[in-house]
Amino acid sequence: MTESTIGRPRTVVANLPSYRPGKGATQAEAEHGITGAIKLASNENPMAPLDPIIAAITEAAAGVNRYGDHRATSVREALANRLGVSSDQVTVGNGSSGILQQLYLSYVDPGDEVVFPWRSFEVYPVFARLMNGVSLQVPLAADLGFDIDALVAAVSDRTKLIILATPNNPTGTASTTTELRSLLNQVPEHVVVCVDEAYREFLDPGFGDPVTELLPDFANLIVTRTFSKAHGLAGLRVGYGIGHPELIATVDKTLLPFAVNALAQAAALAALDHEPAIGERVQAILAERARVEVELAAAGWRFPNHQGNFVWLALGERTDAVAFELERRGVVVRPFSGDGIRITIGAAEENDRFLAALAEAVGVAGSGS
Ligand SMILES: *Cc1c(COP(=O)(O)O)cnc(C)c1O
Repeated sequence: MTESTIGRPRTVVANLPSYRPGKGATQAEAEHGITGAIKLASNENPMAPLDPIIAAITEAAAGVNRYGDHRATSVREALANRLGVSSDQVTVGNGSSGILQQLYLSYVDPGDEVVFPWRSFEVYPVFARLMNGVSLQVPLAADLGFDIDALVAAVSDRTKLIILATPNNPTGTASTTTELRSLLNQVPEHVVVCVDEAYREFLDPGFGDPVTELLPDFANLIVTRTFSKAHGLAGLRVGYGIGHPELIATVDKTLLPFAVNALAQAAALAALDHEPAIGERVQAILAERARVEVELAAAGWRFPNHQGNFVWLALGERTDAVAFELERRGVVVRPFSGDGIRITIGAAEENDRFLAALAEAVGVAGSGS
């Protein structure tokens, strides 16, 4: 990477690698001289938004000479109604990543600590570095679940935030509200705990609902969710957080002016009007995930208890080689070097292509580990 000599970037920024999103199909086609590649790398919804959502976006497009509503008030109110909380308990941001960044901006001073399980969502350590904060990464347990005792033990006087993705990205494992309650009971009230539920809609309801079960008891809890995954609105950037009104007011102070654009607000409102249809699509993705798991198991693969719209193959040292062979066959996945590969559940034909390519890829890349 070339160092910029322009201006004097903050040391943390100068030393930070550029953000690399999951590779796109077009990029993989160019790199490997192939056509017809598919992208199963970013946990996107394979289906275009529902027609009434597209219609709402189209209608809103005529008004984009005006700024949208800074606070996305009607989205907050619709979400509050839907969730059975008051609207001052809801914030809406530029994707749930935007809200996560606001949490760091709002709570993390230089030297402050952020505790999270690892491996988990890539942005958690990056945001900590940007704040000159300290990431405390607590290894996942053997079954890839969270080690609640170790997380609690990692908390110190300097800890400002604990972030728990459930279902976790990239492993797909989830925590029950009983486990989350146990953690909340053991950490000081002045530590903010963020439960990142980007994949909430795909989660088995048996894991419980932190909004209804935990928020009434813990003022230091914020639950974040998004329209990017289940609702298929990743490209519009809209997510939300639910918490105590005072915590929400603090987070709102760091909201970038007009962070949630007018099209995103219109789409989110329309999505909330069509939850049954979105729920059916989620069920279809879950059925595909189950089918892929059956095929993987039949081929001898072992994997964790997946609760998101993706699967995790712990390939260890073979990760890069297998990902490369998949890509050469036009199947773009998300490798985490030395650890494993995350594969998004796509449309049925895409999943079939993945399964066929995987069988070949491990043959070429070697199956021993
Ligand atoms: C995808 C994802 C998000 C956020 O997505 P947005 O598009 O920014 O809402 C947040 N957390 C996890 C764990 C994710 O995988």
